[in-house]
Amino acid sequence: MSHGHTDYGRPVLVAGGGGFIGGHLVAKLLAEGHKRVRCVDIKQQDDWYQVAPDAENIVADLTLIENCKAACEDVGDVYNLACDMGGMGFIENNKALCMLSVLINTHMLMEARDAGVNRYFYASSACVYNADKQVNPDVVPLKESDAYPAMPEDGYGWEKLFSERMCRHFREDYGLQTRVARFHNVYGPYGTWDGGREKAPAAMCRKVIAAGASGDHNIEIWGDGEQTRSFTYIDDCLHGIKLIMDSDLLEPINLGSSELVTINGLVDIVEEIGGITLKRAYNLDAPKGVNGRNSDNTMILDQLGWAPETRLRDGMEKTYQWIENEYQQREKIKQAATTSASV
Ligand code: NAD
Repeated sequence: MSHGHTDYGRPVLVAGGGGFIGGHLVAKLLAEGHKRVRCVDIKQQDDWYQVAPDAENIVADLTLIENCKAACEDVGDVYNLACDMGGMGFIENNKALCMLSVLINTHMLMEARDAGVNRYFYASSACVYNADKQVNPDVVPLKESDAYPAMPEDGYGWEKLFSERMCRHFREDYGLQTRVARFHNVYGPYGTWDGGREKAPAAMCRKVIAAGASGDHNIEIWGDGEQTRSFTYIDDCLHGIKLIMDSDLLEPINLGSSELVTINGLVDIVEEIGGITLKRAYNLDAPKGVNGRNSDNTMILDQLGWAPETRLRDGMEKTYQWIENEYQQREKIKQAATTSASV
């Protein structure tokens, strides 16, 4: 079978497949007919968001070059989604840790090159964009050339920008076919929703669900709530990854929704889904990121015909339902533990 450039004979590797986007990608590759999908993640399998029984599932630390070598063995395509990351609260407080992900992409590129892989996909981020272009909430959408002159998000963004360039130079100097997407705030079910690494959409869902469950209708919002963002639903992201991987586009390209919303607007949506109204307290000292950010999709629309299909309201509904279910499961486990402890 042949689709686009894909070599269906050799395994396809998803690095970071125990994570949010990687877990969905593994499921999609299997559904598309890949017989051999290798999924590698540093987390123990119990902590993977999705475990596909038909994939070859491996727990390994991909900062180590010997593990990258084993992961790349015989592989056709590589999708590198492995990264130590989280929402603003995490990346603002863990800059060194975020930069250490450079070891993953560096060693993965070296071993992918040596293994003679077919194509190599790297997940970059809107955090590579120059901060000076994101000071106003009334944003001009970011186009690909706005990454330079470089002034990305400290820590996480610098690592992403460096790794993007490394992909470029491995292509130029060694002929490794690299493809790079700049994701803009991807959200959906089977992702982080608690624990400090979650991003705004999941955090809002959890806060609204918790408020409904506890009856305490106060909610803390990071910043003044007027900062603007766009959020990309996972299905749209997966579709874009496939188009970018199959394309001849050599330079990094935006993969993000252009439906701009303020954080207050996002809370309105989640309140409506949850059927409650909350009293909002604004924490102006909390990490809030840039004032405004949106994706300019001119290039991806022109070159690949990609446009996001999922409205924020619809994607948030699905995300909310999944998190509500996870929340309830967790409460049940907590209650059972309390009951058995008190018997
Ligand atoms: P995620 O944290 O859910 O997934 C990343 C996975 O990488 C995790 O499961 C983690 O355990 C794994 N990992 C970390 N260090 C590793 C190591 N040393 N060896 C092996 N595995 C390791 O995050 P995600 O949202 O699925 O993001 C996937 C990729 O997309 C990342 O590169 C991220 O930077 C990028 N990205 C995501 C977003 C977003 O909004 N989700 C936005 C921009 C860019």
